[in-house]
Order: sequence, then structure tokens, then C-alpha cells
Amino acid sequence: MDYNQEKKVVKFGGSSLSCDAQFIKSAAIIKSEPSRRYVVPSAPGKRFSEDTKVTDMLIRCYELASRGEDYSAVFEDIKGRYNSIIEGLSLKVNLEDEYAVIDEKIKSGTTLDYVASRGEYLNGILLADFIGYEFVDAADVIFFDSNGVFDADKTNNIMSARLQKTENAVIPGFYGSMPDGGIKTFSRGGSDVSGAIVARAVMADIYENWTDVSGFLMCDPRIVENPKPIKVITYRELRELSYMGATVLHEDSIFPVKLAGIPINIRNTNNPSDVGTMIVPSAEEYQNRDILTGIAGKKGFAVIRIEKDMMNQEKGFGMRVLSVFNDMGMSFEHLPSGIDTMSVVIAEKDIKGLESEILTRISREVNPDNIDIETNLGLIAVVGRGMINTPGTAYRIFKAVAAENINVRMIDQGSSELNIIIGVDEKEFNRTIELIYNEFCG
Ligand code: ASP
Repeated sequence: MDYNQEKKVVKFGGSSLSCDAQFIKSAAIIKSEPSRRYVVPSAPGKRFSEDTKVTDMLIRCYELASRGEDYSAVFEDIKGRYNSIIEGLSLKVNLEDEYAVIDEKIKSGTTLDYVASRGEYLNGILLADFIGYEFVDAADVIFFDSNGVFDADKTNNIMSARLQKTENAVIPGFYGSMPDGGIKTFSRGGSDVSGAIVARAVMADIYENWTDVSGFLMCDPRIVENPKPIKVITYRELRELSYMGATVLHEDSIFPVKLAGIPINIRNTNNPSDVGTMIVPSAEEYQNRDILTGIAGKKGFAVIRIEKDMMNQEKGFGMRVLSVFNDMGMSFEHLPSGIDTMSVVIAEKDIKGLESEILTRISREVNPDNIDIETNLGLIAVVGRGMINTPGTAYRIFKAVAAENINVRMIDQGSSELNIIIGVDEKEFNRTIELIYNEFCG
């Protein structure tokens, strides 16, 4: 076996493995490059928009069983999903014994994590059989501690030793095992995390994440028509955008590959010739003339504005304001401040019904000249490594927004200069994103 050849870890999402036809597409992708040696599958996802994911069907079985209700119809549907893949692909493998074990375990009151994980487990068996790769159960190579916290070191040691012994393997996503042998899953969408863990363990050259979109778009296509795709984005930029709600990839999947400096390539199973988005540790080697990488935003914020003359000279002012939130068990999102003003931006749902208590407590702590709460704030993050060396970016953003008389209620520039966050009234949220996009990409 030549260990110097290029190695790719390829993860296929639920829509890429939802039925026999999608299995065929995914297998063709795997087989088109010998470097695609380690494959991490999700459970069968939706075949059409009203369809139900197998993971959700399994969770439903668990819920019904735990209430003492009959789950057999849902369980039969799950079997039907796998059996139609087996038939469609003319596989020799038979899952009847596996179904019986799962059914038995549900009956005897097993855990939700065990039941939920079986979607990936069964799909992994089918995929391994179809493409002729070895099946490696994730329970043998991904570990959690007895508190259910992912054990990165143990996993990395055992998994890398195990996978070195095999040229090609399928490792189901989403779960691993605890010291007592019990199954534990990551949070929903966690097969992305498994893929990243495998990529780190085998020191892959690249982690390909195959899904049903051709990577990230510069902004939400429901807000801007046909936004440009993002070809290259750094881990840090992605972090800024996903914090603001841009989702394609599970957030925790960044960490293992970032640690190992492995790029992630988001690709489209239904359009494999699209290059997709590359997520890279640093973008120096990639030519890029774009100033902005992406724009994302979230609604539902409130801003508490505190004013006091000579605030800047008052020792411990900020600390006392923040102690109020700390004491009330709330975490804030942003903290833009001026010489005599300080604003605390916080999720509106966290302060519902507690507004007057917050104002009273802060007033007691710092005796401000003025204090108020404004709600219905939408935050928009304008993110781009290209902004660092481009003077006038902020000017262009504000000029574009001001031209339509949109009032910017808050500004916060991250210390990295990688992003500028602006707060506007929720009513002007979509329009603001459109204006900024058009200014730079229109
Ligand atoms: N099947 C799991 C879910 O639906 C995990 C995954 O697909 O990544 O959340």
C-alpha cells in the first residue's frame, strides 16, 4: 500500500444517500478518484421536500416506544427505506438481523442516542457493500468520555491506527461510543463532525463534504437574487458568517480540520463538476480580488444604550454594567462603546419580560445620565479578509445604506478587521443586505 498517495475523506450528506439513485451518484463520485479512500455517510435524508429523514423516523420510534405506544408502522417505513435501496442496487447484503437487534433494543428501553445513530450505521453497511469498501463501525473509533464529551485525543490515536490498516473504509457519521460501550451521537447534522474527525485522523489532504448545494453563496438567496458563490473562504471568515446564521456545515466540524490545517471542500453531489467552496486555514495562496467574502445576518436583537458624561474616566464602569448581565445569567453578543456611551447588544428572547429589571439594576450599579432599550434590531455582518487591506470599505457600506435613508443603529468592527457588523431596524434588514451586496457585487 502506498501511503504517500493523495488521501481524501469524503462525507456524503443525507440527500446524497437518500435512495438508490443518489447512492449511484455518490458511488460514481467516490470511484472517480482513487484518493477518495475514506467515506463518511449520513443516514438517508429527504428524497423530496415533504419527505422525512430516517433519523427523524428513528427518533419518532424512540418517542413512541418510550410512551408505551406502538411504533411498528414507523419502524416498517424505516425498513422500507433501506430495503428499497438494497433492491434498487441489487445488493446481496441483508439487514434483517440488524433490524431485529434494533427493534429488540427499542423494546427493552435503549437510549435515544442509540436509536438515532442507527440511520448512519445501516446506511454505512449498505454503502460499504455497494462500493466494496471495508465497514468500520464508528463505535470502535470515535469516543466520548463518561460525561458524554467528545474525547479528541483517544479518538485520534485509535482511529488513525485503525485506518492505517485499511486502504478504503466507510465509517458511518454522527456517533461514537462511551467508555461503557453505550452509543452517543453528536448534535443534529453531526456527520459533518465525524467527517472532520476522520480527516484529521488520516491526515487527509482534503476533506470533501458532498451535499445538495454547490457551496456557500455570498448571501441568502431568499434576500438577494442569484448571489455569487463563494469560491474560497477562511475558517475565521466562515466562523463569522455561521455565527450570523449562515449554515451549510455543522459548526463543530471546523475544529478538527482547522487544527490539522486541512481544507474543506463543499461540493454538490447533483452537480459534481461544480468546484464548490474551499474552506482554508489561510487564503494567501488563493488569488482573490474580492473585498467581501459574504454577508449574513440575524434578527431578534435588543440594544441597551447607556450614557454617562466622563464614563471613560470612571474605573470599573464596564465591569459593573456587565456584572448585571452576569448576575442575571445572560450572555451578551456585542459591546460597541464610545467615550461616554456603552451599548450592550443581547438576544431579545433572553431579556423578554426582564427589561425593567435590567434597567433598574444597571441604574443602581452605575447611575447613568441616560439609559434605554431598543428592540427589533437586525444585525448584519459584512465579512471579508479583503477588507483588511482596502481603505474605504466602511465608507462604501454606509454610503450605500444611507442613500436609501436607512438608519444604522449600531456599528461594531471586530478587532480583526475581518468584519463590520451593523445594526438596523428589522424592517430594513433585507433591503440593507441587498444594498451592501449591490454596492460590492452588483
Ligand atoms: N442523520 C443525522 C441528522 O439528521 C446526522 C447528519 O445527517 O449529519 O441530524
